[in-house]
Amino acid sequence: MNFNRILSNRTLKWLLFSLLATTLSVSTAVGQETQNKTDGYLFHDSHFHLTNYIQEGTDIRHFLKIMGDKVGRSMLCGIPLQQQWMHASTGDFAPTYYTQTDAPLYYYSFTDAAIAMAYRSLTPEERLRFDPMITGFNPTDMYAADHIRRVLMTFPGVFSGIGEFSIHKEFVSSKVAGEVSTVNNKALEGILDFAGEVGLPVVFHRAGQKFN
Ligand SMILES: [Zn+2]
Repeated sequence: MNFNRILSNRTLKWLLFSLLATTLSVSTAVGQETQNKTDGYLFHDSHFHLTNYIQEGTDIRHFLKIMGDKVGRSMLCGIPLQQQWMHASTGDFAPTYYTQTDAPLYYYSFTDAAIAMAYRSLTPEERLRFDPMITGFNPTDMYAADHIRRVLMTFPGVFSGIGEFSIHKEFVSSKVAGEVSTVNNKALEGILDFAGEVGLPVVFHRAGQKFN
């Protein structure tokens, strides 16, 4: 299978690889400078989650209205984690954010399908404003690259990259069952190798963890 054929031919010119949100801001600023000269938009958005930790969020058409004539293109992803509503923890209170309960978070792969379908609901012209990204996998899982490959084959021509996923995030990592991800994890190496093989940019969040 030649993945270059099924990948979107749009490219994320302004962003290849990032460790922290601060880096993302710099990338956006650089993009702003060059784009102002060509298309009239003020900037492009290198990082946007269309959904939250209970997989709800802004309707993509409403988001397009918010972007208006100020934001040219936006990276688009869901959130790979779902906050469990555990009755034993919060009873009838339905938490919408991970700080509102001690219940765990779990990986929710369907978020990629939701993003793909939202993107596909747009007209071809509207789609040019978005760069959908794959994020619904556990970055400590050696099978993660298989998920990414499966998403690319299920939704050909939709996704432009991988991310944003978290290697380490304060308050979040300790709530996810299983292994805590690190930059040295063999599974991350597999994800990056696959990204290099098929030519997808990768965005990940890493904070509150020392390099070793
Ligand atoms: Zn984020």
